[in-house]
Amino acid sequence: MISQSFINLAYLAASILFIQGLIGLCHPRTAVRGNLLGALGMLIAIVVTMLDQKIISYDVIIAGMIVGSIIGWILAVKIQMTAMPQLVALFNGFGGGASILVAGAALIEEPSPDLQMTIATALSGFIGAITFWGSLIAFAKLQELIKGAPIRFPGMQTLNALLAIACIVLCALVAVYPDQMIYYWLLSLLASILGVTAVIPIGGADMPVVISFLNACSGLAAAATGFVLNNNVLIISGSLVGASGVILSVIMCKAMNRSILNVFFVGMGDSAPALGRDEFYEGKVKATSAEEIAMLMDGVRRVVIVPGYGLAVAQAQHAVRDLTNLLEAHGAEVEFAIHPVAGRMPGHMNVLLAEADIPYDKLKEMDEINPSFANTDITLVIGANDVVNPLARTDPNSPIAGMPILDVDKSKTVIVVKRSLSPGFAGLHNPLFKLDNTLMYFADGKKAILDLVAAYKEL
Ligand code: NDP
Repeated sequence: MISQSFINLAYLAASILFIQGLIGLCHPRTAVRGNLLGALGMLIAIVVTMLDQKIISYDVIIAGMIVGSIIGWILAVKIQMTAMPQLVALFNGFGGGASILVAGAALIEEPSPDLQMTIATALSGFIGAITFWGSLIAFAKLQELIKGAPIRFPGMQTLNALLAIACIVLCALVAVYPDQMIYYWLLSLLASILGVTAVIPIGGADMPVVISFLNACSGLAAAATGFVLNNNVLIISGSLVGASGVILSVIMCKAMNRSILNVFFVGMGDSAPALGRDEFYEGKVKATSAEEIAMLMDGVRRVVIVPGYGLAVAQAQHAVRDLTNLLEAHGAEVEFAIHPVAGRMPGHMNVLLAEADIPYDKLKEMDEINPSFANTDITLVIGANDVVNPLARTDPNSPIAGMPILDVDKSKTVIVVKRSLSPGFAGLHNPLFKLDNTLMYFADGKKAILDLVAAYKEL
C-alpha cells in the first residue's frame, strides 16, 4: 500500500509540471517542451492515482484508458487544424460529463458525506452538466450539424433565468439532503437544459469565445470534483484549467472589443448589412492577376503579409514561405502581421506559420506592426477579412465597431487574396476591398501564391 504522503508529493510534482507546461506554452519556441511537461505531469498523476488504495477495479480503468487513448489518438491525428475549436469543445464537454458522473457516483458511495463534499458535488453536477451540453451544442454549431446562426424563441431569457434559479435551489437541496439522490439527478437534468438554451442563441461567430468559457467551466467542475474525492491534483489542475480558460476568454473578448456578457446576451453580426453585396461593391473593385502582382513586387523595399482564416483553409503556409524566401532573396524586407483573433482560435496563425518554418521573429503583433503600414510598399492580405475591416474604425454602428484591426489600408498598395467578395466570420461587407489603393486577387489562397511565385520567377 502506497503512503498518502508519497501520493501528495507525487501530485505536487505533477502540479509543478502542469505549471511549467503552461509557462512553456506561452512561447512558440518552448511550446512543444511545455506540452511534453504537461503530458508528463498527467502521466505521473494517473499512475499515482492508479496506485491509490481506493481503486477497486483496474480492469475497467485499463480498458477505458485503452479505448479512450485510441479514440483520442485518432481524433488528434485526423482533425483539420481549422476544426480544432470544435475538438476542444468536445474535450471540454467530456470533462464536464465526467464530473457529473464521478461526483454522482461518489455521493452514492459515501454513506455520511460532510458539507464540503455535498456542496462540491452539487457544484460538479451543476457546472458539469452545463459544460457538457453547452459544449455539445458549440461542437454541433461549428461542425454545421445544426444551424450556426442564433436560435431563439420568445421567452428564452426568462426561461434561462428560471432554470438558473431552480438549479441554485437544487444545489442547496443536494448540499443539505445528500441522501436524496433525486435532487442531484434533477439538478443535472435542469442544468443540462440550461446548457442547451444558454448556447443555442449564440451565433457561430462567437462560438470560439463560448468554447473557451466552457473550457474554464470544465476546469471548475473538475476542481469541484477534486473536493468531492479529496484529490489534490484534480483540484489544482481543475483550477489551472479554470483560470486559463477565463484569461483566454477575456483576451479574445478584448481583441474583439466585446465583453463576455455581450457575447452571451447580445450577439454579433446578427443583423444583415443594409446594402446588398453587388450594390456595396459595384464598379469600385479592381481585380488583379499573379503577373501584375509579380511586376508590382519587383524591386519593392518592404512587404507585409497578413494571414487570416482563408490561409488556413487553403493550407497556403508553405507557398507563403516560398514567396517570402523569394522576396527576401531579391532584397525586400518581409514581415507578418498577426491579429490576435485572426483564424478561428488564439494563436492559429502562429501555429500555421510555424508549421512552414517561418521564423518567429518575422511575426509581429498588431500593436507593434500597425505604425509601420504607412512605410510599407505592399501589404498582401491572404484569406483575412474581419481583422482588416476599416468599418471597425469608421462605423460606430457596425457590430465590430471599436475592434482593434490591422491598419493595412494605410500601406501604399494593398493586395487581397480571397476567392470572392464573400464576407468573413462577422458577416460584414469590407470597404477595404473597394479602396483606391486596393487590388483584389480572386483565387484560392494556395493556388494564388503558387502562381505568384511562378510569375515572380519568370520576371
Ligand atoms: P474572416 O473569417 O473574417 O475571413 C476569412 C476569409 O477567408 C473569408 O472572407 C473568405 O473569403 C476567405 N477564404 C476562405 N477560404 C479561402 C481560401 N481557400 N482561399 C482564400 N481565401 C479564403 O477571417 P479573419 O481571420 O480575418 O478573422 C477571424 C474572424 O473570426 C474574426 O471575425 C474574429 O473575431 C473571429 N473569431 C476568431 C477567434 C480566434 O480566436 N481567432 C475567436 C472568435 C472569433 P472567400 O470565401 O471569398 O474566399
